Amino acid sequence: MNTKPNKILIVDDDQATQKTIVDTIVDTDTSYVVATTNDAGLRAVQNDSEISQVIIRAWSIDIDALDFCERIRLQRSHDDLRIIVILRNDERPLGAQMLIAGANDLLIGDFEPRELRMRAHIVPSDQVKRVDPAHTPQSAPDVVSDRPKVHVPAFDAVSCRFTFGHNELQIAEWEADPDVKKIPLDKIIVCPQCSAVPTFRAGCGECGGAWTVPETIIHHYACAHVAPEQEFYSKSGLACPKCRLTDLVAGSDFEQMRGCLKCSDCSAILSELSMVGHCLACEHRFAMADGIEMEIYGYQIGRALDAASVTPPNFHSPRRVANADQHTWQPDTVGSYSI
Ligand SMILES: [Zn+2]
Ligand SMILES: [Zn+2]
Ligand SMILES: [Zn+2]
Repeated sequence: MNTKPNKILIVDDDQATQKTIVDTIVDTDTSYVVATTNDAGLRAVQNDSEISQVIIRAWSIDIDALDFCERIRLQRSHDDLRIIVILRNDERPLGAQMLIAGANDLLIGDFEPRELRMRAHIVPSDQVKRVDPAHTPQSAPDVVSDRPKVHVPAFDAVSCRFTFGHNELQIAEWEADPDVKKIPLDKIIVCPQCSAVPTFRAGCGECGGAWTVPETIIHHYACAHVAPEQEFYSKSGLACPKCRLTDLVAGSDFEQMRGCLKCSDCSAILSELSMVGHCLACEHRFAMADGIEMEIYGYQIGRALDAASVTPPNFHSPRRVANADQHTWQPDTVGSYSI
């Protein structure tokens, strides 16, 4: 997980595009500032070291993304400050020049929030559990020297585990250091064989299969035989496959039980679905109850008056969705300042 500050500078004077960008950014809890001219944009980058990304209109009366890119690249690298240029459809031919001048990426025409999120590497806030850096008052330099750094594990797609990457070897040291604060983040269910992260599906508790079909069961009163309805089908109507009685009448001879499920893989009749895990690393398939609960922690390095605060996960329960306030766009609030 990237803990580098991700403040976005928007340089655009097109109200509609600005609204799309701001709505998308607000949804991700990323902070942003807005400028409407090249000069104001350049000043913002100079004065605000937290800006790590710029989304700029290619061309308008007071905006010239080509000039902006060339000036910025004299001081800041592609990795240090990303620049995404917005092109109108008829400006598409300018794209190559923008990239040569130093743009990292392009947004063309009427782009969607999804595309903006992908290009700007931002994730909607309801998909992340955010860790806010510890509070370090600027007015107390004697108490706290460096701004504390918070390390949180990230999912590694190769090992299929949450790891601290190149900091993995430091965990033992952090654990032993009284100045390092351990921050509880989450508890997850992992593979009982290799501790990697699994996927889960509601499936068959007998064989772990994912596919089931609804099944009707017949209970023949006379002989107490219980079997799927299909087994009672005969040329002359319904007949019991066990006691061979024919012309069975619903209600007087048998009862039907609906709501059962039949596994498409092993044909087991199931009264309910089970949560089945499948390990992404070792392919082990297991009942969720057999999974191992693993605690996930972050570490705050460096002294601070307070521990880093962790926002609660934005859980999407039906009740919360029903109570959620309608999101309204307020262009002059939430992290923006005028330049
Ligand atoms: Zn099965
Ligand atoms: Zn029977
Ligand atoms: Zn495994």
